Amino acid sequence: MEMGKLCHPDGRKSCGACCGLYNYLDHSREALRRLLRLRTRLFKRYPLDPEGLRAYRQRAQMLHHSPPLSKEIYRCDFLGFVDEEERRVGCLLHPSLWGEDLRDVSPYGRKLCAGHLCLSHTYLSEAEKGVVIRVLDDWYLYGLVITDLDFVRESLRILADGIGHAVKPQHLEPPLRDALRRFFSFKEHWPFKDSRPRLGKYWFSEGEYRLDHPWDDPWDRILGCLETAPSLWEEAKVYLKHYMGKLIETFLRTLEGKDVV
Ligand code: SF4
Ligand code: SF4
Repeated sequence: MEMGKLCHPDGRKSCGACCGLYNYLDHSREALRRLLRLRTRLFKRYPLDPEGLRAYRQRAQMLHHSPPLSKEIYRCDFLGFVDEEERRVGCLLHPSLWGEDLRDVSPYGRKLCAGHLCLSHTYLSEAEKGVVIRVLDDWYLYGLVITDLDFVRESLRILADGIGHAVKPQHLEPPLRDALRRFFSFKEHWPFKDSRPRLGKYWFSEGEYRLDHPWDDPWDRILGCLETAPSLWEEAKVYLKHYMGKLIETFLRTLEGKDVV
């Protein structure tokens, strides 16, 4: 994980998805907050030398509260909170904290940790990145949304089609910011969720991940990203379309007469 624009966009949130943050059967906000808090406190009790870091890691492995969703993806013990307010999740070994890079002990190795940038860096447009950064100010939801390419792109595309132009960060004064935040928070509180182990469009079985369908329809892609249960699909689609219609109306009403180009 880097401390760059998308990973740590500002002092109010950050992402830790690629370090295995959500790779728990129980990846609820409360469970992950508790885990990160415990790890961060434990980390402070060990010296920052190879022996201390090894001893920390051994102890930290006992903090995992739940089995992994995927056995193929690490859940790095060095991911914690990097600020006192617990607003930013991040690498406890990062050079910005200590002046030297301690990630030799990382399960991925220092070079991979330092160089890794996920697909969202490449495939989200600057406007799409800017909208998510502007709308979300909490680490849990930010990480879930910014790493879900299909969810961000398809929902912003449908919104743009409805209002007649692309949504840009500068349009998002309240109440539009709040309205879009409520929509993004479906990633956490979608009422039609699958009961199988899921993370976005992937579901997990015996520690391996699978993709249900290569959906063509944008609405289906969004429903997949929201972990919709197959048995509730059609009902969920009606709800989603109705909700998006209301969101479009709010945007049209609020932006009427404003310079949006
Ligand atoms: S998943 Fe992407 S945005 Fe999140 S920390 Fe990793 S590289 Fe950064
Ligand atoms: S050591 Fe690497 S994988 Fe672990 S938290 Fe740091 S950047 Fe992430």
